[in-house]
Parts: sequence; structure tokens; C-alpha cells
Amino acid sequence: MNQFLRCMDCGEGFMKTPFDQCPEYEYDPNHPYEPAQVIKRDDFQRFLTTHHGHRLEYLEIIENSFVSDKNYLEPVKTSYLKATNSKKEKFVIKRIREKIGEELRYQVIPGGYLLECTGVEVQSEEITKKLEMEFRMHPFSETKISKFLRLYRRIIRGIDLKNLERIPEEPSHPLEEFYKMDDRSLFYLLRNCRNIFMGVEYSAIEDFIYDHKDHGVLLLKARYRIQMIEEPEAKEEAAPTVIPAEVRKVIKKE
Ligand SMILES: [Zn+2]
Repeated sequence: MNQFLRCMDCGEGFMKTPFDQCPEYEYDPNHPYEPAQVIKRDDFQRFLTTHHGHRLEYLEIIENSFVSDKNYLEPVKTSYLKATNSKKEKFVIKRIREKIGEELRYQVIPGGYLLECTGVEVQSEEITKKLEMEFRMHPFSETKISKFLRLYRRIIRGIDLKNLERIPEEPSHPLEEFYKMDDRSLFYLLRNCRNIFMGVEYSAIEDFIYDHKDHGVLLLKARYRIQMIEEPEAKEEAAPTVIPAEVRKVIKKE
């Protein structure tokens, strides 16, 4: 609570305590064993000096609203958090780091964000690898593998994610999610496989499909994109400078 301070005049912000609810690990590659992202008193002092006389307010960060455009372990990236102020106005906190070793910057934008699905895909590369590995003794021909992939892609074309079950597997990328194919797709996949695989090969691919449809390589991968919804902030009357009590204490110590 009360860990994020926003300057209403500049649209910048300051995170007072390390944000410990987001599912990622901030670390310094030069000192991998040191606790990451320690906020120094000086940084806070500097923020207060820069924004001296400006209107400041605390924002409350909305739990589990963390999303980022890159892999969780990638240190150079832009991340987004949702927050509200005491008047329940909504904001997006954009956390930016452009270079390794550079300090995190926070930009505060009135509004929210949506995650928009940009497509659902078959994990072709992973499926191919798995098929090659599991059937090393009696491999399927390349033609059959590519026919199988083409068939699976055709079956899921235009599929509606709303009808699919999301698999709570830990994705390595915040903008990816995995879904299980529905029974109808499974039925079509098995039936059409009869045109590609015969006899023993059909039994083998059938087992493979049942083994991997609920987890692993036959899961469908959905990709998302962060879409910002900016909302112009309500015009403020010339309000007196809002300085939270805690900040006043720090300023007095100067
Ligand atoms: Zn300011």
C-alpha cells in the first residue's frame, strides 16, 4: 500500500518499495547474488527535489496487473501495471528500462490497458522435435510430419478461444497463453489422420495425440498484444498542492 507516488504535473512516478507481487526477477547480471532493485533513500530524495512544489499523490497498484512486452527474465523491457488513486481514477504505470544497468523510470498514464489476442498457433517446431524424438526407431517421413502439421493448423483456423480451456502452465512470456484443443478439433484431427497414417503408424500417432493434447506440444499457443486505452484526466480545479504526510516529513529533513 502507498508504495507508488505520482507527480500529477509531470506524469512521472516513483516506486518506493520494490514491487514484490510481480512474477519476475529483477537482477543485476554483474551481481547475480545480490538482492535486486534496492531502492535507495537518495533516489526518493531526488524524486522529491525534482518535483518540488508539484502536486503529488499516492497510487494503489492493482494486484496481478503486471504485464510486460518481453520474457520475464529479460532485464531490458517495458512493463505495465494498473493503479488507482484515492478518487478511484484509473492509471497505467509504465515501467521503462532501456539499457542494462539503467535505472527504472516510471511514466503514469491516465487510463487502462487491454490484452488483445493477435492469433492462435500450433507449436509446429516443438511438435516436429517431439515426433522425431519419440519415434527415433521408426520415424515418420518428413512429408507425413508436415502433412500432420498442416492438418492441425487447418483444424484450428478460426477457432474461438472462448470455447477452449486455458491451461495454467507457467508461460515464459507474459504475452503468451496455452489452450487445450476442444473435443471437436480432437475428433477431426484423429479422423483426418487416417488419411495420412496407416496401420501401426496410425496407432502411434493416435497415442501421441492423446499423450500430448492436454499438456505439452499439442497445446495451442495464443499471443497477445498490450493495447493502451488512454482516458483524458478530469480537469482539476486549481487544487492546493497535495503532499502526503510521509513525504512532508522527508522534505523537512532536507
Ligand atoms: Zn513533477
